[in-house]
Amino acid sequence: MKHPAALLAFAPLLLSVPCACAAPHMASALTQGADDSFRLGDPAGSGSYDAPFFIDARYSAGVTDPASVLGQATGSRMATDKELRACFEAWAKESDRVKLFEHGSSHEGSPQYHVVVTSAKNHARLGALLADNARLFDPRGLSEEEGAKILERALPFAWMGYSIHGDETSGSDASLALAHRLIAGTDATTVAMLDEVVCVIDPIMNPDGRQRILTQSQQMSGYTKSLNHKGLLRGRWPRGRGNHYLFDMNRDWIAGSQPETVGRWEAILRYHPQLLVDAHEMSGLDTYLFYPQADPVNPHVPAGLIESQEVFGGAIAGAFDSYSWDYYTREWADGWAPFYSDAWAGLTGAVGILYEQGAVIGNPMRRESGVVLSYRESVHHQAVASWACLEALRGNADWFLGRYLADARRVVADAPLNRDVFVVRPGENTARTSELVRILTGQGVEVERAISDFVTTNTTDRFGVASKEPVSSPTGSLIIRAAQPMGRAVRAYCEFDTKLSEEALQSERESLERKNESKIYDTMAWSLPHALDLDAVWGTLSGEVKTRPVPSVSRFNKGMIPHLADLPVAYAVDAADDSALVFAVQALDAGLQVHASDKPFVHGEHTLARGSLLIRRHENEGDGFDDRVIKAAETSGVELRTFSTGLAPDDGPDLGGGHFQLLERPRVALIGNSPTSPDTFGHLWHYLDTRLGLVHTILDAQSLSSYDLRRYNVLIMPPGAGSVVTRHKEALETWVRSGGTLVACGDTSAALTAERAGLSEVVLRRHALDELARYAAVAERERSAREVAVDADAIWSGAAVEAAAKQEETESVSVAHVAGETDEDRDAWMRRFSPRGAMLLGEARVESWLSAGAGEQVPVLFGGSSAYLSPAGVETVVRFAPAKDVRLSGLLWPEAAERIGDSAWLTRESVGDGQVILFTSMPGFRGFHLATARFFGNAVVLGPGLGASAPSPW
Ligand SMILES: [Zn+2]
Repeated sequence: MKHPAALLAFAPLLLSVPCACAAPHMASALTQGADDSFRLGDPAGSGSYDAPFFIDARYSAGVTDPASVLGQATGSRMATDKELRACFEAWAKESDRVKLFEHGSSHEGSPQYHVVVTSAKNHARLGALLADNARLFDPRGLSEEEGAKILERALPFAWMGYSIHGDETSGSDASLALAHRLIAGTDATTVAMLDEVVCVIDPIMNPDGRQRILTQSQQMSGYTKSLNHKGLLRGRWPRGRGNHYLFDMNRDWIAGSQPETVGRWEAILRYHPQLLVDAHEMSGLDTYLFYPQADPVNPHVPAGLIESQEVFGGAIAGAFDSYSWDYYTREWADGWAPFYSDAWAGLTGAVGILYEQGAVIGNPMRRESGVVLSYRESVHHQAVASWACLEALRGNADWFLGRYLADARRVVADAPLNRDVFVVRPGENTARTSELVRILTGQGVEVERAISDFVTTNTTDRFGVASKEPVSSPTGSLIIRAAQPMGRAVRAYCEFDTKLSEEALQSERESLERKNESKIYDTMAWSLPHALDLDAVWGTLSGEVKTRPVPSVSRFNKGMIPHLADLPVAYAVDAADDSALVFAVQALDAGLQVHASDKPFVHGEHTLARGSLLIRRHENEGDGFDDRVIKAAETSGVELRTFSTGLAPDDGPDLGGGHFQLLERPRVALIGNSPTSPDTFGHLWHYLDTRLGLVHTILDAQSLSSYDLRRYNVLIMPPGAGSVVTRHKEALETWVRSGGTLVACGDTSAALTAERAGLSEVVLRRHALDELARYAAVAERERSAREVAVDADAIWSGAAVEAAAKQEETESVSVAHVAGETDEDRDAWMRRFSPRGAMLLGEARVESWLSAGAGEQVPVLFGGSSAYLSPAGVETVVRFAPAKDVRLSGLLWPEAAERIGDSAWLTRESVGDGQVILFTSMPGFRGFHLATARFFGNAVVLGPGLGASAPSPW
């Protein structure tokens, strides 16, 4: 069927046939010999693309051809997870060139695996080859002579990873073509490759996302092919990019919040590859992008990385030129953030290579030039790029291995700074510390614990305060040395403030001023000690310190349950540890009456932080009370404290008084589906489900009016849900007024502000340009209330009145006006310089229950152009520091600092019997910003009891 017009001519005839089985008849009439079901992928016959993937390859017939598993030519449709696995399992059985290893499982239970493909001879000595490579990775104590010997016999390893974004499907299909050549190839080039390179193929990095997009594409397919690049055939919310929880796993390499990442860390570090390939797709109207990458590049990647990438890029370019395929390099895809696959590879010493094919998502598509790109051709591009990379590695093996060792020597010696250490002081929040240890040890970083006090010089804390004097840290501190094989990662993840080069800064500024375009691809701040808000410093070790290695942990589970000699009058759990929230969830689920304190209180030698939880015996009479409390404590891993008296030993609160407020069990609804942002929806969902273990219901944003919202007392609106707020304004207000806790995150907060839905009195700065002085005064009043100093003499003598009159205006950063510019034009200009994601200093209001478990200062990741101003009647729980102090890390232009300084990050307002809570940027972003996640957890778990009122039982 070449002409769509011919099909249209049939339509009236078909419609006039009143036959129940019209569709199958239509199929046989219109689909050129296909059977009754429609055909996925490229059309058979004239539209198909049948070029061989590798012109010079010859194949043994005795090895499974993927085409026989797929029932059609390899790459002509998207292979399912099961089909991919069937091919690799068959090969592992029938060939001595390949071995299959599992390295974990996805959330939905799909095995994660990789295959090692090399000659049978190399397989027989794989242990020795791995040992050599491990020595090159960790050359501590390796003499020049020994190093040279290893280089002489070592083989390069390549890790070839495909389709980490599940709807960028062509990579996985290309992995079949690549593996088939390596396993079945009999030509001289393939045999040489097998002899000289150890190739590890990771064919399907995101099985859950791939399965989702395959199902969507199949469900939206029909008998006729649409070549339109838009449309549901290519996916609908939440598409296939993320994994089960919709996490972008190409942003998860630092934190490993997802099991797929954790398994892959361990697997890749087993091989220490010199090359790591990560095959992606981009807009379907685009051509093909590969490295060398764009500026800026993270300073902690291997020396000369771009030069190494040029070797691989040159090889891909040569191969593509031979087909006259279009491509480009360096136009985008910078190497600044270390959470991408290729950047992470660099932190292990490998050369990371990324390529991006214009995505057609399994179906042919017409490009703007009119050219139709078949799916199989897109797979062909990926296969050719992969082979070209392997050829470049083979052809320059000695050069790459030599550079790999040289850079590893630089990192472990790291002269002259080889006593640089990252130190984390011991604290009460073991959930946070154990998360850091899990993240670092999971990636092979060596972590030690000090068993003596020690001193550092040149010490800087996480808020950027540098000490001229030597600084002492106590026994129990974690010590992480920069001079170790994974030292690049230690610096890249834990440095407080990695700064762009002057050149990169100049180039970004020019692009913003001239084109209003940022060259930055993703968030610019990710520092682990900020994301986890740890009491940490960087310094140089001075003198000796005794240490013990810290083993890899999944969790430092205190789990301390007291021995019950006498039945206590009450139990308590310290809110200083994030696990207290998990305990609250478990205890409320078990039907216990749980209180939260609004003041610290004392237990023996220990002071429990404000927000700590109290369970009183007399309110929980009944069978199994103690058992239920103990079970909740065991499940959440908290330390349970018992009280034999309700009388406070100091002037703190007695346990039966009004400083303990009763919690209300949260009945949580999370708004999902379009138009919410899939990935940030996923971050909130993952947090509720896997960190808090909180029962919740996901409601469809498209059908919000069909639900009885009275069943819920907490409603969470993820970023992207602004239009849902606007559409359901009245219903939401009625629900909040009757006692609901509405929690909005990120840009959805803007929809609730005074100028829009009006459910909050908070305003966007752009709507309050003539009232900036008023809002600045509110911030000033709050800040001065933190340190109240009363000079009694001055009060009684009247001198205070005189002094106040003379007080000068506070200093602030101000970006000059251009003469004649209106306030609106100036604000629009300033918004141009909004951060892409910078770590900012927040000041927490410690009286608020929302800040339980937090200190007075908290690092907050913030991006975007919306600055929120809160009037005096609004409780601003976290406010950004003044402009001159607000930046902790990441790029923040002075214009942005002026707009964001003093603005609100977290606000709470009572509305009727309920409350509105706004997080003006995403809390708990990407699953590892646990410092801001804590505020979100407090909002959800403590909110219904502490900030809203529910009718009392009677
Ligand atoms: Zn991608």
